[in-house]
Amino acid sequence: MDRSEKLRQRARELLEKGEVVMVIGSGPPSDSGISPVLFATTPEQAENLTASTSCAQNLANYLLKVRDRGKVAVVARGCDARSITVLLQENQLKRENLYILGIGCEGIVENGRKSVACAVCRHPNPLIYDEMIGEPAAVAEPDPEVSRADAEWEQLSPDERWERLSAELDRCIRCYACRQVCPNCYCPVCFVDASMPQLVGRTHNLSDNMVYHIIRALHMAGRCVECGACHRACPVGIDLMRFNRRVAKTVRERFGGDAGTDLSQPPALTVFKPDDPQEFIR
Ligand code: SF4
Ligand code: SF4
Ligand code: SF4
Repeated sequence: MDRSEKLRQRARELLEKGEVVMVIGSGPPSDSGISPVLFATTPEQAENLTASTSCAQNLANYLLKVRDRGKVAVVARGCDARSITVLLQENQLKRENLYILGIGCEGIVENGRKSVACAVCRHPNPLIYDEMIGEPAAVAEPDPEVSRADAEWEQLSPDERWERLSAELDRCIRCYACRQVCPNCYCPVCFVDASMPQLVGRTHNLSDNMVYHIIRALHMAGRCVECGACHRACPVGIDLMRFNRRVAKTVRERFGGDAGTDLSQPPALTVFKPDDPQEFIR
């Protein structure tokens, strides 16, 4: 029995026995190679599930939308499961209301190329799950092109980085698609939408774009699981993963560990340590 058939069988069983009210997974890939999100609430609908790992969305995002409906099953790759872990750490989901069908991930392939996030993925397998469907995936070597670009970025002076960041973010039209697709960006009222006080202007200009991206980066520090959903959603092709990877690297170096990899540990920036060296405070 292949992996997709096994997934369909388990999804059917879970729905037939009433163990879950819904299974969230992926449908068959389109011609571009990307799979749509599929919400199966009946055994018949579960027949369209596939174990494709080429869904452009992070499926944890949808768990937040159905969390009041009862127990839900979700198909989780490495990054979906890491986002679920962050949401559990932050009390946004209840573990007893989830059934995690883990799958090893070969990465999101679009038009014959791995997405930039998947090209350097360190955690293709879910670290929490109720059962694995199929075998775990091997951790691939990071794409040398992405690693080289990151190394070049490290060589730049702070002024050069600021210049490049400004040039990139000047193109942002502040559609907020990057926020909407991010499972770990869930505030009921985002600071950019607040009107009392209004913190960010409504038009798109570099200054307000910077405020949005820098504050979002701070909010996501230690919580971003590097799934790349925001990067893929951006309609103007801003290289959001460059910045996400850089922030994640800083968190890894200063606090240790990757976001969403250890349910027993709170997210890095929610912890106060009296013996913190605080060498950045001058
Ligand atoms: S980031 Fe990793 S786990 Fe997530 S889709 Fe890409 S390869 Fe799979
Ligand atoms: S998706 Fe792209 S254009 Fe839209 S707000 Fe995010 S970075 Fe800006
Ligand atoms: S900021 Fe982007 S890469 Fe990070 S968790 Fe959110 S959608 Fe995924």
